[in-house]
Amino acid sequence: MLIDLHTHSRRSDGTDSPTELVENAARAGLAVVALTDHDAMTGWDEAQIAADRVGITLVKGLEISCTFRHRGVHLLGYEPDPSDPALLAELEQVLRGRQDRLPKTLAKLNELGIPITEDDVLAVSGDAAATGRPHVADALRIAGVVASRDEAFERFLMPGRPAYVDRYAADLEHMIRLLVAAGGRAVIAHPWTRQSRSVLTAETIGELADVGLAGLEIDHNDHDADTRAALRAIAGDLDLVVTGSSDYHGTGKVGYDLGINTTAPDQAVRLLGDRVTLFR
Ligand code: AMP
Ligand code: ZN
Ligand code: FE
Ligand code: FE
Repeated sequence: MLIDLHTHSRRSDGTDSPTELVENAARAGLAVVALTDHDAMTGWDEAQIAADRVGITLVKGLEISCTFRHRGVHLLGYEPDPSDPALLAELEQVLRGRQDRLPKTLAKLNELGIPITEDDVLAVSGDAAATGRPHVADALRIAGVVASRDEAFERFLMPGRPAYVDRYAADLEHMIRLLVAAGGRAVIAHPWTRQSRSVLTAETIGELADVGLAGLEIDHNDHDADTRAALRAIAGDLDLVVTGSSDYHGTGKVGYDLGINTTAPDQAVRLLGDRVTLFR
């Protein structure tokens, strides 16, 4: 019973359409897959049709870019009401921040003598609701400036690199409250990766649990064995759900294959049992 609760389609920065993603999930032997595009719910309907056809369970989710104590934290939201006005308004703000960032990023690249245009990026982002740095990376690859997304991040797009631009992100505590108010569940994605480790302590995670946080994504490629053990101890003390997932991006992220990390069925039931028929 393989359950993978964190994947991306072309509606954000993955490379599969929602249909292809669900088909690949079935091929990988998953019984349950969550589609969690960045800041967007636009892939849900297409993915549901595919899931019904191939006979696997779809969990409707999203991964929201948040800020906590001046650091970036990614928050997974599962099964919120997609028409909740307060949730939609905040997501619109986040998406606007992405739109506003793109011309600034391109201006910096142009200053460096790299003539990438907005049309070049739109040509690769296609029907994505959320345009992101990976799309800029793809445009740089197609223009022959870099060989891979990773190289584009290393040379230009990471914080501290010459084409990095900050953007709006939602307040983490506010977003947890919005998700819960919209009937959803909130889980912190890869809590101890990148910038978020220093601000996510046992104490602050406890405060977030009081606000409504339901779980921690612990089994993730970016966490080593020691990190997972330390986070499991925190989750145990706070009685939080423990999840595991691939963070699949199609061919956009090498080594993050569907099902490479999974969530235990009992944990999935605790998190989603009253929202989704997990096992048929
Ligand atoms: P953005 O949403 O535009 O802020 O870009 C963040 C996304 O870019 C992440 O969710 C990853 O999919 C991807 N990403 C972040 N850092 C890197 C990196 N160093 N190399 C490749 N992809 C990355
Ligand atoms: Zn991504
Ligand atoms: Fe993430
Ligand atoms: Fe992700």
